[in-house]
Amino acid sequence: MVGRQAAIKADGGRQPAQTKDKTHTAAINHADPSPQRGAQVTRLYEPLAYTDRPIQDRYWSRFLPQDPDQPPPLTGHQQAEVAIIGAGYTGLSAAIQLADAGVDVAVLDANGPGWGASGRNGGLVSVGSAKLEDARIRQTYGAADAQVFFDAERAAVSLVETYIDRFDLDVDRHSRGYTYLAHSPAAVGDLHAYGREYSDRYGLDYEYIPKAEMPAHGLNSPDLHGAVTLPIGFALNPMKFVLGLTGAARRAGARLVHNSPVSRVEQHDGQHLLVTPNGSLRAKTLLICTNGYSADTVPSALAARYLPVQSNILVTRTLREAELAAQGWTSDQMCVDSRRLLHYFRLLPDRRMLFGLRGSVRVNERSMRATEARARADFDRMFPAWRDVETEYFWSGLICLTRSLVPFVGPIPGLAQAYAGLGFHGSGVTMAPYAGALLADLVLGRQARPHPDLMKRAPKRFELGRWRRGALPLAFAYYGLRDRM
Ligand SMILES: Cc1cc2nc3c(=O)[nH]c(=O)nc-3n(C[C@H](O)[C@H](O)[C@H](O)COP(=O)(O)OP(=O)(O)OC[C@H]3O[C@@H](n4cnc5c(N)ncnc54)[C@H](O)[C@@H]3O)c2cc1C
Repeated sequence: MVGRQAAIKADGGRQPAQTKDKTHTAAINHADPSPQRGAQVTRLYEPLAYTDRPIQDRYWSRFLPQDPDQPPPLTGHQQAEVAIIGAGYTGLSAAIQLADAGVDVAVLDANGPGWGASGRNGGLVSVGSAKLEDARIRQTYGAADAQVFFDAERAAVSLVETYIDRFDLDVDRHSRGYTYLAHSPAAVGDLHAYGREYSDRYGLDYEYIPKAEMPAHGLNSPDLHGAVTLPIGFALNPMKFVLGLTGAARRAGARLVHNSPVSRVEQHDGQHLLVTPNGSLRAKTLLICTNGYSADTVPSALAARYLPVQSNILVTRTLREAELAAQGWTSDQMCVDSRRLLHYFRLLPDRRMLFGLRGSVRVNERSMRATEARARADFDRMFPAWRDVETEYFWSGLICLTRSLVPFVGPIPGLAQAYAGLGFHGSGVTMAPYAGALLADLVLGRQARPHPDLMKRAPKRFELGRWRRGALPLAFAYYGLRDRM
């Protein structure tokens, strides 16, 4: 099993960046800084964002197998019934469902399974794949469809559990639901409303924890002023999960092809032709599962309909019992604070603190160092007793937003027999596997689970088109200001 194959490195100080992620490089052999190798692929971020550099210091690389299976890249001209681009949770889940139904399916990834956000996230399995408030969802799409969406979010958490149980995955699960924390005294007033909103959605109780009682729950921080715990979701090791899905997809009969960047998708005789550096794949149906790593040209019908945004994570060294006691933070609940530019964090099973944040716009050496410094400053403010506890890992990756702020799983406009699942707004550990299952349902023409109409609508194009990233500094500045008010 995945857990037994884990390549666990000994604890130690932060290693030089070049030597840190050898296991990963070996696993996916992604040395080429330009996955498309000269083809005209239009992506939004600096080329560095699409290399291994942002995951050089990734904690989850410790869990990659030592002797990974290295299927060869696509060569020659091949055929499949369904071609999937992207081997993250979305593509793998779609592949599992389709292969289970007897469909001949091939999954192409520019790198390998879990190279994207699915192998670099915080592992928080929870609801929240839309960035619209509930009232706005009901107002815009109607109460009935809004309810189907909430049902889908709940079903998405259940699907992750189903996969874990069915494939017997060892994913280091912990946390009972999640805890939402007020980042300021002013935000405390909204906690009950937040809890009630979720009660209304799911008919579940929430637990309110006033600041005075937080230490008794092992949640002590001078920067946090009250909490609600919602009994939905849990935390897991995202790398173990993606490796588990990879094995399951293979066993189900899906073909997984690594190191095969698709540079363009052509149409010939009612079929899609996916072109890679050394070969091509022809398929009747195409599924785009590339989320934050999408390109405006693969396929161009999706251009400007998504917006990748960076998310960043630091992981400390293992905390000693005395250090945990000094801070008064001993809970293994997964947590999110109430900032618009939120922090997400959890004490990992090996007693390291994982601490994530959004908000950097550029991807270059300087911005990565600046974001790490900002993450560390926020961490020190929230956990002052751990100021001297070293950061051992820091990495980043791309999540994906849509213009409508709700996820998309539906037909790609203007491209027959082609579907996409993307835009999980940073909650894709839960919604991406579900999106994959929904994509399979669309291909198979079945209705196996809640699929709200609001998710089937093609997202509108961002007004700024290929310059849409330019809106982010303003948005971050605005949200940062509101968080400080
Ligand atoms: C730092 C970080 C923290 C996060 N934390 C959480 C969290 O705690 N909880 C949560 O729910 N969500 C979290 N997320 C979001 C979550 O990880 C994603 O929503 C989810 O993994 C998306 O899965 P995916 O399969 O759709 O895409 P990805 O996992 O990003 O996979 C896309 C794949 O497509 C491939 N690809 C792209 N273009 C091509 C091409 N042209 N040809 C071939 N292959 C291509 C890439 O190589 C990549 O492997 C986080 C994300 C990040 C980056």
